[in-house]
Amino acid sequence: MSHFTASFAAHFASVRVRFGVGIRRQVSEEVARLGCKRALVLSTPAQADAAMEMAQDIGDLAVGVFTRATMHTPVAVTQEAVAHALSVNADCLVAVGGGSTTGLGKAVALRTDLPQIVVPTTYAGSEATNILGQTENGEKTTLTDARVQPEVILYDPELVRSLPAGLTVTSALNAMAHAAEGLYARDRNPISTLLAIEGLEAFAESLGQVVADPTNLEARGRTLYGAWLCGTVLGQVGMALHHKLCHTLGGSFDLPHAETHAVMLPHTIAFNARAAGQELEPVSRIFGMDNPGLALHDFAQRLGAPMALRDLGLSESDLDKAAETATSKPYWNPQPVTKQDVAKLLAAAWRGDQPAF
Ligand code: NAD
Repeated sequence: MSHFTASFAAHFASVRVRFGVGIRRQVSEEVARLGCKRALVLSTPAQADAAMEMAQDIGDLAVGVFTRATMHTPVAVTQEAVAHALSVNADCLVAVGGGSTTGLGKAVALRTDLPQIVVPTTYAGSEATNILGQTENGEKTTLTDARVQPEVILYDPELVRSLPAGLTVTSALNAMAHAAEGLYARDRNPISTLLAIEGLEAFAESLGQVVADPTNLEARGRTLYGAWLCGTVLGQVGMALHHKLCHTLGGSFDLPHAETHAVMLPHTIAFNARAAGQELEPVSRIFGMDNPGLALHDFAQRLGAPMALRDLGLSESDLDKAAETATSKPYWNPQPVTKQDVAKLLAAAWRGDQPAF
């Protein structure tokens, strides 16, 4: 059945997206296409070699590299990167990496309005959104702004080949969370629903294949396709309890981003399935179980994902504070949220049990 609804609003950013094995070597073309001549390449310290290689590929159109991108986009690092961009008179940014590097590019673009080319190396999906999370004085805040939306994305399956098996699975579940919550978003539209379903199907088909053979470029390409679709959903519609809980656990308890999404996803989807069973039907169908939360739990377990918050460093004594923080300023959610329910949900996720709802 079609996903048409009688009334909806949809918005689409103007983004150029290219896919292909080896496509990263065409960044210089994209720099020139933007009318730019002085690209600054960004990366994390761990991916400095990839950034250097990229700068070499770009050749005369590159003016330097800045390799200090950090998880959660600390404003102090952004200020250093802006100063660096101004000192070399950069006229565009090339971010090579996961959500942390993309986040730095977005934060610099917010302050300088420089155009961005993103070459993703994880499945986080930040490249497809106009959303930026930044950290200052220990507090993470999120904003949406058109200047933050990258203009060009190049998806090269060769770049995700080096993703360790653990991050491959958790980063994919992070992307799938955008699609799963997009299915029941209050402001969803027929296209966001189509994108979410296609994104989940892409991961369902390919994630097991890349875990079995990390060098399978066809399957790696399909996972990147899933990441693009799921990230686009995140950029189009509002997120709910799942993202709220992950932001709380990451922001207030410093839990790792992708791993936290991976542990929480089956629990939050099971919780919301009571109010949004029909909207979550594609999850049940794609992952092959009536209860969409149990279906995702089974999928994640089979792929070796972390299953318990206690294994990510959260102590049991923090659970009450986490439930309190997550419910004090709640996001809209299809299932009404109480602190008691969230405490029960978090306790099951902490122990690594099956979803409690
Ligand atoms: P990340 O970018 O921090 O990468 C994790 C680690 O893996 C880093 O050390 C990185 O250098 C390394 N790495 C990345 N790709 C690799 C590869 N192919 N091979 C080997 N190592 C690789 O992690 P992430 O999960 O991609 O991003 C998390 C960040 O992105 C968080 O800060 C999160 O808030 C943000 N995010 C933002 C949005 C948005 O729309 N604003 C969406 C999703 C995530």
